[in-house]
Amino acid sequence: MENQFLIDSEYLSEAALQKKHELENDPSKRTDPMEYFPNMERIKSDVMEKVITEMNNYDPDQYTAVDVARALRHDRCSIEDLKAFLSPAAEPFLEQMAQKARLETQKHFGNTVYLFTPLYIANYCENYCVYCGFNCYNHIKRMQLNKEQIEHEMKVIADSGMEEILILTGESKAKSSIEYIGEACKLAKKYFKNVGLEVYPVNSDDYRYFRECGADYVTVFQETYNVKKYETLHLMGHKRVWPYRFESQERALMGGMRGVAFSALLGLDNFRKDALATALHVYYLQRKYPHAEMSISCPRLRPIVNNDKINPLDVHEKQLCQIICAYRIFLPFAGITVSSRETKEFRNGIVKIAATKVSAGVSTGIGDHESKYTGKETGADEGDEQFEISDTRSIDNMYSDMENEGMQPVLNDYLYV
Ligand code: SF4
Repeated sequence: MENQFLIDSEYLSEAALQKKHELENDPSKRTDPMEYFPNMERIKSDVMEKVITEMNNYDPDQYTAVDVARALRHDRCSIEDLKAFLSPAAEPFLEQMAQKARLETQKHFGNTVYLFTPLYIANYCENYCVYCGFNCYNHIKRMQLNKEQIEHEMKVIADSGMEEILILTGESKAKSSIEYIGEACKLAKKYFKNVGLEVYPVNSDDYRYFRECGADYVTVFQETYNVKKYETLHLMGHKRVWPYRFESQERALMGGMRGVAFSALLGLDNFRKDALATALHVYYLQRKYPHAEMSISCPRLRPIVNNDKINPLDVHEKQLCQIICAYRIFLPFAGITVSSRETKEFRNGIVKIAATKVSAGVSTGIGDHESKYTGKETGADEGDEQFEISDTRSIDNMYSDMENEGMQPVLNDYLYV
């Protein structure tokens, strides 16, 4: 496969711009999103077919207030009930849904809320996702931390008291190799009790290697479960291969990963159908891998560097709340993460209803934790941010705010003996 990764000087070359123009305007120039690239592992699994069939058959407008009221009376939420909860007919029932979700959350998680910090160690990316600030055609300041810089950032974060870290890279295997990510995991294990990875999807052997290096869980966003829409948004690179991405969590579990996380980027396509598919993706894998910890993230689109065409208001706050409540009622044991893309007020409220995990001390840039945490000019090189965040609270502020909201902040619940 041709390495389509672009380096700084090539962003605006005539050939690069020509290729970008072709990809955007001529679908015949794009690869088949259902075709695996060589060396991509294929697994035998019926989960994809089940999820897609349910999603394709789902018409949110078919559901009525009677369906929602019936679903609210059920002790156990069926797939039909979930479809009703995600439909427009459920919007007037938000208060009742929130009460039901709150009961489920309290039953299984008490009043705990987990805190974690994401750490971006590179922003190089080989993919062309049209909505993302890190995409290979976006002319931003690229950077990759070396081992010493990674360790320095981790130390700064660990000194703030955090015990869980989520390591992120853009998706460039050429720049952020398997070994590079593995080394980052080994460093993270020195400073943190729980280590998550949000990197490009890999084969189960590579997930096994990451696990051996210290990774505990893997997050992969499917973005949208609608393949037709997906192919118009992911124009180039390995991410274009939709089924390989869909099967990431299962390969990670086959590789021995302790937990996996899922997400659609709400607002890319019909958010009700994407929310249904995300929930079912978790549901079917929970049945197949009952030992695994599963969680779900609920991001909406945010503005990004050099792209003002994306409207992050496609999914309104009440609708986001509806989705999160539906997730909780349908998946009582799943973790639910709400990121700093959302406002402080929203996050303070949703942790009391359904969410179980929030990020704190967040930066989506590269190598800037020290300057952000201390307010000092460090003189260190820093890479551009992936997207703007809404909730900029420090770890200390988040911790005390959660306590003030009556929650019990948890930094880690996993002990190695
Ligand atoms: S969404 Fe991920 S894969 Fe796509 S351009 Fe951004 S960093 Fe790269």
